[in-house]
Amino acid sequence: MKVLKFGGTSVGSVSSILNLQKIVEKEAKRQPVIVVVSALSGITDQLIATSQLALKGDEGWRLEFDTMVERHHKMIDAIITDPHDREVLFKKVDSLFEQLHSIYYGVFLIHDLSHKTEDTIVSYGERLSSNIVATLIRGAKWFDAREFIKTEEKQGKRSLDSELTNKLVSDTFEDLSRISLVPGFIAQDRESGDITNLGRGGSDYTAAILAASLSAEVLEIWTDVDGFMTADPRVIKGAYTINELSYAEAMELCNFGAKVVYPPTIYPVCVKNIPIKIKNTFNPEGQGTVIKSYVENNQKPIKGISSIKGTTLITVTGLSMVGVVGVNRRIFSSLANNGISVFLVSQAASENNTSIGVKDEDAANAVKVLNEEFRLEIEDGRMFPMYAESGLATVAIVGENMKRTSGISGKLFGALGRSGISIIAIAQGASEMNISFVVKGSDLRKSLNVLHDSFFLSEYKVLNLFICGIGTVGGKLIEQIKSQYEELKLNSNLKLKVVGIASSKNAIFDRDGLNLDNYREELKESEPSTPEHLRDAILNMNIFNSVFVDCTASRDIAALYQSLLENNISVIAANKIAASSAYENYYRLKQTALLRGVKFRFETNVGAGLPIIGTINDLRNSGDKILKIEAVLSGTLNFIFNEIGADIPFSETVRRAKEQGYSEPDPRIDLSGTDVVRKLVILTREAGYKVEQEDVEKHLFVPDDYFQGSVEDFWKRLPALDADFEQRRQKLSNEGKRWRFVATMEYGKTNVALREVSANHPFYNLEGSNNIVLLTTDRYKEYPMQIQGYGAGASVTAAGVFANIMSIANI
Ligand code: ADP
Ligand code: ASP
Ligand code: MG
Repeated sequence: MKVLKFGGTSVGSVSSILNLQKIVEKEAKRQPVIVVVSALSGITDQLIATSQLALKGDEGWRLEFDTMVERHHKMIDAIITDPHDREVLFKKVDSLFEQLHSIYYGVFLIHDLSHKTEDTIVSYGERLSSNIVATLIRGAKWFDAREFIKTEEKQGKRSLDSELTNKLVSDTFEDLSRISLVPGFIAQDRESGDITNLGRGGSDYTAAILAASLSAEVLEIWTDVDGFMTADPRVIKGAYTINELSYAEAMELCNFGAKVVYPPTIYPVCVKNIPIKIKNTFNPEGQGTVIKSYVENNQKPIKGISSIKGTTLITVTGLSMVGVVGVNRRIFSSLANNGISVFLVSQAASENNTSIGVKDEDAANAVKVLNEEFRLEIEDGRMFPMYAESGLATVAIVGENMKRTSGISGKLFGALGRSGISIIAIAQGASEMNISFVVKGSDLRKSLNVLHDSFFLSEYKVLNLFICGIGTVGGKLIEQIKSQYEELKLNSNLKLKVVGIASSKNAIFDRDGLNLDNYREELKESEPSTPEHLRDAILNMNIFNSVFVDCTASRDIAALYQSLLENNISVIAANKIAASSAYENYYRLKQTALLRGVKFRFETNVGAGLPIIGTINDLRNSGDKILKIEAVLSGTLNFIFNEIGADIPFSETVRRAKEQGYSEPDPRIDLSGTDVVRKLVILTREAGYKVEQEDVEKHLFVPDDYFQGSVEDFWKRLPALDADFEQRRQKLSNEGKRWRFVATMEYGKTNVALREVSANHPFYNLEGSNNIVLLTTDRYKEYPMQIQGYGAGASVTAAGVFANIMSIANI
């Protein structure tokens, strides 16, 4: 025979309950089955919530009650077609609801809700659902679980009276019907006869008790997922089904929060060596999971990851605890005597410090009990009062293969460390099958994702991008990401997920990825945002593998980099402000990135998409030394000096540069060389020299006083320079030379100047707004390395940013 247990979602809707019927009828053709059912999904919670309303004297309990009645009525209407069956069932169900109504009314009137009453109230969920299923499945015989599942109270804790239960179960099911139907969860106190239960999620346990007592061939747990998975699929999108688990592994995972099986379920069937199968009611053909004693070695060092929220860590410590006799015995017995269970212990070898993990709701009581237990030692100063930290989470990685594989802890803690997650306590059992650790509650989701990604190698590597700035460069970048998305997924197993987009005024976020088709509309409709909001929102999302991409020119956004890097978020900047700011700031950003194991990249700061910084880095990494850099780095100035001619005076070239979008809105920023100075400073620093913007010698071609006053004045005065320029230009032209605004660095000394280059110079033929860089190094001495091409433009800059993103993805 088999025992089949169906959870709340399997009886929660018309379609699921009809699936259940098919599954059971098919199985029952082969052998007798016992079917255990939970309450309709959500009903146990609703029963409890309604009792709380009644307790508070809130009339709202009636509405909640009515919705429960209606939900059951609708279900019966939809699935029970035979009029007679339906009438009998309605009578039964309505009489149960009548009793329940009276109990609630009593609670409402006298404002009192004892444990006994609460237990009675929650029992109605399974009593109702099991009667419905028993009517639906023709020939099914309904049993009252209270008659054979017996509990007892010991030291304030309720537990199963296994001996009595086993005997009663054997007697009850001596002659097995083809289909027996049993409500899960509910039980009866063997002394008082009161209704009790096996704890939340306890229907699994009911089924296991039956399976073990009757030596079933298998215990099948039918639920709403494809089996036992590598992690909770509601948190980890890439979690997948584990086909085989040992009892011990399943036990470890369930004890640490894998809700799919209620922990006490495993022991009774494990003792009898009865396999447990986890199957999906919504996908009966799926392979599911088998839990049994021996499983094939599947190469993966760990099987699954699970977690418990709401952990409190209590630290028992003192100056001279070594002298206190029996500390551990006293900690554990005092807590056990007060019904507090400890699920994690970590002790330093010095014995001076023991940390124990308890549930948040037990924390206050545990602290009180321990302070009381060690009152004398605390008073005489040998120990400190208990210190409790709440709101934490415990994560466990589990797998029998850990015993045989070295380096698991290294991998575990390395992955967490790189993601900026700090570990508050660690425990590893000598069985080496479980490593558990405690983190801040707010780091839980990120920890699970990081670990799942590093241990289970999900199908895709994911990079989570926050893109700031949706002007020409940011806009183009988003377009490029959108058009390359499928290609990268297919060929590079990489998912570039844009999880945040910010304009100068608004910001939108979605940890599952934003829709890149209508982000502009979504931004418009979103709440206004400031750089500080943006930073806080990003840090609060706390996603692993995150990259902040700055496509703005904003000083305020550049000011966010430090805190982002400190929180293990890589930064890619098209914005030049940070890398050209005070050397100390530049250095600190780079060091922070290094320390945190993330990246700070800004390739497009110089020469847009041209691989200049990357090349300098590569040369230096291979041991080369950058001796000299000569470069034309301003597309605007190059345009101006290419345009200037007999019939196009200097002032006109500046005007054209502005009109054609080459220059900054205020062209003085270009003419003053500010932009070139910034770029030169960045290149010089990347070449390994320390330099500030003020250190750059400037030889400008527009007198200083033109840069004071308003832009209007500037435009008015500009033509006054034309005559002198024309005279110099003619002379230059006669000599066969051209002007180029050149940035130079030689052994760390820097200058920018308007230079005259002759026809044989590599800068002579530099077209339009192109950039060129000559790198003289130890290895490229006689013939410098030359990099040349478009030095400006949204598409090439966005492509450069994209290349930076890919360089991070490929690490
Ligand atoms: P039922 O009502 O059928 O008893 P539960 O809600 O108690 O179902 O348990 C199933 C749920 O357990 C799944 O929907 C899933 O969200 C959650 N869960 C947590 N961890 C795991 C895991 N490792 N594998 C599968 N499911 C898990
Ligand atoms: N209905 C009970 C609960 O929700 C028991 C179960 O579903 O297993 O906890
Ligand atoms: Mg369950």
